[in-house]
Amino acid sequence: MASIRTRVTAAYALALVGTMLVFAAALWTARRAAVLRDLQVRVSTLADIGLLVLTQAGLQNTPVVVTTDSMRGPELQPNLRARLDAVPDFLVVTDSLRALYVSQAVRDLQPGDRDALLQAAMQLTPLHLVATVELSDDQLLLVARFDTAGPVRRVVSAQSMSSAEFLGSEQFSVFLLIAPLVLLLSVSLAFIITGRALRPVDEIIRDVSAITDGRSLHKRLPQAEGDDELARLAATLNAMIARLEQSFSGLRRFTADASHELKTPLTVLRADIERAMASGPRSTEGLVALEESLQETARMADLVESLLTLARADEGRFDLHREPVPLEPLVIDVAETALILGEAAGLRVTVAPLESATVMGDALRLRQLFLNLVTNAVKYTGKGGRVELSLQRRGECVEFAVSDTGIGIAGADLPYLFDRFWRADRARSRTSERGGVGLGLSISQWIARAHGGSITVASRLGRGSTFTVSLPLPGPEPTPNPNSALSET
Ligand code: ADP
Repeated sequence: MASIRTRVTAAYALALVGTMLVFAAALWTARRAAVLRDLQVRVSTLADIGLLVLTQAGLQNTPVVVTTDSMRGPELQPNLRARLDAVPDFLVVTDSLRALYVSQAVRDLQPGDRDALLQAAMQLTPLHLVATVELSDDQLLLVARFDTAGPVRRVVSAQSMSSAEFLGSEQFSVFLLIAPLVLLLSVSLAFIITGRALRPVDEIIRDVSAITDGRSLHKRLPQAEGDDELARLAATLNAMIARLEQSFSGLRRFTADASHELKTPLTVLRADIERAMASGPRSTEGLVALEESLQETARMADLVESLLTLARADEGRFDLHREPVPLEPLVIDVAETALILGEAAGLRVTVAPLESATVMGDALRLRQLFLNLVTNAVKYTGKGGRVELSLQRRGECVEFAVSDTGIGIAGADLPYLFDRFWRADRARSRTSERGGVGLGLSISQWIARAHGGSITVASRLGRGSTFTVSLPLPGPEPTPNPNSALSET
């Protein structure tokens, strides 16, 4: 879809071409009518002159018509013929039945054209004084004058209309020459003006797209001066962002407060259940019930802890330490836990040769991130499977990867993997021993980003997955991730 700027310019160009065509057509019609009017005046004057020559002869009692040859009938008196020869262009003098005189120009016409002209001249009447006649290569305008008193009936003068047509075509060529120039100039101007007018919209788009998530809602669009549409748009968007900020922070505060408040009762509950289990002999059902309650309480405590972590991270209230963390011992530590978990789950955990690397960050949070990935790998890999850990330097980064031969993730699910509370199979994971709450990867991603790094995943359903954490190595010019929480706090 073309931009508004292109569409407005195209619409303007189209409107301009339409207007120019209508204007040119109106001008051409008016011009042609004026030229034809002039031509008619000129032809009428010539017809008047012809008639005047004849009526003056009548007044001086000079015979107008003589009969020299009875076979040819009456003719115009030779003296008058000589005088009429002085009238330019086509001139025809007739009585009521036939032509008495035709000028040299008429005699020079081809026989067919001459007959057409004479026929048209004979059809003119006092009520119908003007006509046009088509010749083989021209068009003539005829004007007649009548003398009802004498033997001469009508005097018809005619002239070529090609001058009017020529004027029209001349005007058309001028139009063809000028129109593209005018069009080019106007369209370029329209393009520039529309671009200028829409520049603030581009700025608003840029500013709004900089507000990418809940954490950038404190930003506002620059308020344009004046009261035009764009200033009102910016003001409306700012008001909307303010409302969003308010409800986002309300929501975050609520989650943080609720999680915080839930922590203590859950701890008490857990301690009570443990005490009840330890105190005295109990029936098997009673013990099973207490065991289940303990599991659920632990799950709820984990959920509350995760919620609190994320709510604080969202609010930017999380203090991450920034100290040099050697990753090799951290991975060895995590691998030991993985070996224990793997043994319990009946799968083989291997560690590829580790490269040593030190990053700037929070050792506890990094451990939590690695452990999340490792426990997931063990959790989602069946008996007899394999989980492998590796640590490798790659240019400016160090990569910690966990590969498993487990159940894998469908391609369609990958975009949602890091969403909060997302689980591939909600119904089953809630009840099975794999039951997680779907917050582990969200927290892992937050930790990676907070360290200026990222997590990527490659997975195939039924074949296994590889989660890779990439962390920047401290260099002379550290380049933190724009989305990183560390850079925001
Ligand atoms: P959970 O506590 O449910 O494990 P996570 O956020 O850690 O929550 O993971 C979200 C979902 O991603 C899991 O429910 C699971 O469906 C999928 N997942 C995570 N890691 C793996 C893995 N290694 N193999 C297959 N699926 C995985």
